[in-house]
Amino acid sequence: MNRLERDISEVLLGEDEIDQKVKELAQKIYEDYREKDLILVSILKGSVVFLVHLMKYLPIGFAIDFIEISTYEGTKSTGVVRLIADVRESIEGKDVLIIEDIVDTGLTLAYLKENLLTRRPRSLKICVLLDKYERRQIKVDLDYVGFSIPDKFVVGYGLDYNERYRNLPYIGVLKPEIFSSE
Ligand code: 5GP
Repeated sequence: MNRLERDISEVLLGEDEIDQKVKELAQKIYEDYREKDLILVSILKGSVVFLVHLMKYLPIGFAIDFIEISTYEGTKSTGVVRLIADVRESIEGKDVLIIEDIVDTGLTLAYLKENLLTRRPRSLKICVLLDKYERRQIKVDLDYVGFSIPDKFVVGYGLDYNERYRNLPYIGVLKPEIFSSE
């Protein structure tokens, strides 16, 4: 067991389970977008691992772009959504699919959807790997969802706690004592 793994109380989703789900999501996206002008907009930084994994199973032409947003400090949502970096290319007339790691309160995606819709994409949909549905504060329509998970703070597979744990290959629950001093 390495140092990062010692901080994990439970593996919620293992590598094989994630791989299988990503393949299924990619298959659905393939069927829906094979005739379209697709652009995958990944929300930095947490969704990068998910984006790359999805790309591997998506045998169609598409562009990728990135948006950076912040709402979290440590394990807590501040409730204030900040746009840190915007997409580089125009999304007008494009079929945009937002790629997000996890939806919690819903504030990030609600904000982002409203913001991107003002730029007149041809279509705008959302793909999330994890849905922490118990904590939702605002309704957001999710078009592709990997897993519904309980209200626990998770790390790994791109998700961090203070920038660490992103490189764990699975999704695990962080031991409360790691962040109890917050
Ligand atoms: P929302 O705006 O829906 O409350 O939060 C979405 C963002 O909060 C995600 O993109 C992610 O950065 C962060 N987040 C929410 N829950 C978790 C969690 O359990 N673990 C980690 N690492 N980040 C989370």
